[in-house]
Amino acid sequence: MSTGTPIFPPFTPEHDLFRASLRAYVERELAPHAADWDAAGIFPREVFTGMAALGALGVGYPESVGGGGDYWHVVVLAEELVKSRNAGVNMAMLVQAQMATPIINEIGTDEQKKLFLAPALAGEKIAALGVSEPDAGSDVANLKTTARRVGDDFVINGAKMWITNGTRADFVTLAVRTGEVGYGGISLLTFPTDVKGFSIGKKLSKIGNLSSDTALLFFEDCKVPARYLLGEENAGFYHIMTNFQGERLCAAVGAVAGMQQMVDDAIQYGNERTAFGKPLIKMQVWKHKLVEHLTAIEAARWLAYRACDLFARGEPATKEISMAKLFAGDLMQKVVYDCQQIHGGMGYVTESHIARAFVDARLITIGGGASEIMKEIISKLVPGF
Ligand SMILES: Cc1cc2nc3c(=O)[nH]c(=O)nc-3n(C[C@H](O)[C@H](O)[C@H](O)COP(=O)(O)OP(=O)(O)OC[C@H]3O[C@@H](n4cnc5c(N)ncnc54)[C@H](O)[C@@H]3O)c2cc1C
Repeated sequence: MSTGTPIFPPFTPEHDLFRASLRAYVERELAPHAADWDAAGIFPREVFTGMAALGALGVGYPESVGGGGDYWHVVVLAEELVKSRNAGVNMAMLVQAQMATPIINEIGTDEQKKLFLAPALAGEKIAALGVSEPDAGSDVANLKTTARRVGDDFVINGAKMWITNGTRADFVTLAVRTGEVGYGGISLLTFPTDVKGFSIGKKLSKIGNLSSDTALLFFEDCKVPARYLLGEENAGFYHIMTNFQGERLCAAVGAVAGMQQMVDDAIQYGNERTAFGKPLIKMQVWKHKLVEHLTAIEAARWLAYRACDLFARGEPATKEISMAKLFAGDLMQKVVYDCQQIHGGMGYVTESHIARAFVDARLITIGGGASEIMKEIISKLVPGF
């Protein structure tokens, strides 16, 4: 007999309260500026402090570093951010709170938590994650930026590419080569960007995620204290891969919420817009297309929730997370196409949400591990390949 209480997903009244306050903030303070911030190619720095004031950047972290809540609060964060209607802001916030910083919480020293993690969760310092390089994106084990030990310091030389929050980051969680060629010679460092020799090569001009500053960064004889090493020397590859799991899960959860929003908008537009004497939504082709998408989105949601559950409980989840990102990412390409199509000409002008979503959506099958990389990972975790 049903108790009337849903067991799964395990959202409690506390999660619901967080969702309500976050949604109110996102709809009031972010969404109205979505098109303007995309046009400007940046959003105000105050968004970081505004989100932090809600506790949204600290979800999933212990109170000792200014956090609170559990992993299902992170799920709420990734879901509600899509209501900002601005993929660049969403990505910046998730990099700040769920991609550049979890690793500091896991393996950082008390000093690193105080200098980098806590100010990031408070929105006072902007964080970036520096893994990708001009010649090494998917192939992380091949990264070339070096950190040479000289006395009590590391001296860093190299370049990082496509770095989100890159033009205004106060620090970068930086992947560097400290040892042999391949995955066994990689380390992680907390890198403050006020170090001599650091420069922003350029802000990259992109087709989507326009309000997010994505940058090429240069490091020329940059000296940082050796104690800024994160965890053990030459053990960085393992931590990068672990860290990717949270990043990919947020991407999958956000993609599901984004697709749901696209279809909701398409249904609304289809009801309002008439052609040939009836609302578009009454045409069977559109009903069927959108219902098919709703069905697939529901499947994507439960696949993602299943991965969230494993991840939240500390169970192995790499296969499920990779599947969730792969499925949601590839599905999004079809959903966004049809949802733009039903908008007709309005879907082609950038004041419409769906026009901007059309280009933003391309990122999910490329960034944070391309769909092909997800397939490689899954094949390694399924017996028989
Ligand atoms: C907007 C944006 C923001 C980003 N933010 C960050 C960030 O904050 N920090 C960061 O470190 N990086 C960031 N990235 C980098 C991103 O993670 C990489 O672009 C991504 O990992 C792919 O790497 P790549 O571009 O070098 O593509 P490549 O590795 O050159 O791959 C190109 C394509 O080849 C195919 N391919 C690659 N390997 C295989 C394979 N083994 N089998 C089959 N096909 C394959 C895939 O289709 C892939 O898309 C960002 C990228 C973008 C576009």
